[in-house]
Amino acid sequence: HAKQERRGSVQFFHEELNARMVERSQLEQELQHALENDEFELYYQPKVDAATGRVAGVEALLRWHHPRLGLLSGGQFIPAALDTGKVVPIGEWVISAACAQAKLWQESGAGLPSIPIAVNIAIPQIYANLPEVIDRALREYGVPPSSLQLEITESLLIEDIERATSVLREISESGITIAIDDFGTGYSSLSVLKTLPIDVLKIDQSFVRDLGKDLGDNAIVAAIVNMARALALRVVAEGVETQEQLNILRQLGCDEHQGYFYSKPLPAALVAEQLGRTNSTSSTSHA
Ligand code: C2E
Ligand code: MG
Ligand code: MG
Ligand code: MG
Repeated sequence: HAKQERRGSVQFFHEELNARMVERSQLEQELQHALENDEFELYYQPKVDAATGRVAGVEALLRWHHPRLGLLSGGQFIPAALDTGKVVPIGEWVISAACAQAKLWQESGAGLPSIPIAVNIAIPQIYANLPEVIDRALREYGVPPSSLQLEITESLLIEDIERATSVLREISESGITIAIDDFGTGYSSLSVLKTLPIDVLKIDQSFVRDLGKDLGDNAIVAAIVNMARALALRVVAEGVETQEQLNILRQLGCDEHQGYFYSKPLPAALVAEQLGRTNSTSSTSHA
């Protein structure tokens, strides 16, 4: 009886696994055409400056208008893009689209200050002519390097750290800022803080989620904030969803907050509206 049940669940497991593998390889094939079919869009999520209440920057987050599955977010297809190598051409599209958007926002003038757009960079991009790719996009749209920030996930930085370092130095010297994303997770090595030209640490959302409930997380966030301060880096908390988390982050001295508490990632037009509102009201109330 028990044995039969077990066999049943094993079989179910196989079917599910099989379905997932089929789905995954189908997704990988469909990714091949997503660029040509113009199925990608950048959404933007504000990062709010703790000191002024103003939007200090936005993060570009890739969305895929999938013909069969609807709107997919990065978490749902970036892993497949990494496996197929498609992440490199897709990443080029992202950089170019972010520069195009920066140009539009800068030209629209008025309520829209020139805040940097942070783009997520996958490690293979670093080894695929990243400085040239960025330079070309900046020149094509005529925007300054200060329009861009790169977000790089530390857990993936490992393999050829020397080469990555020299590429990132070149980019950093051109005036583009660099953030370490998901800081504190993965195979973090504090030595990257010494070797890489870093401007910003983004505290991973897993440490933010239980702030106030898990005192270990309070201690970890406090330690990261203090370390960032000592190294003269800005520190951003991601995944901020509640007033309680925000209060604790303020107390601990975190510089910027990003998360659903302020805004979900939004299409460009909507985030621009919100940005115009936030930054004009906070500038009058703080003046
Ligand atoms: P990430 O860079 O750490 O981005 C943060 C993720 O958390 C995003 O998921 C965002 O939508 C989500 N998020 C933001 N605020 C909150 C919150 O308050 N609560 C919760 N629970 N989640 C929040 P998304 O858009 O699915 O992206 C997932 C990952 O995919 C990103 O993690 C990034 O590593 C990668 N990714 C996204 N866009 C790109 C891209 O253009 N290029 C590359 N290479 N990777 C990208
Ligand atoms: Mg990011
Ligand atoms: Mg992150
Ligand atoms: Mg993340």
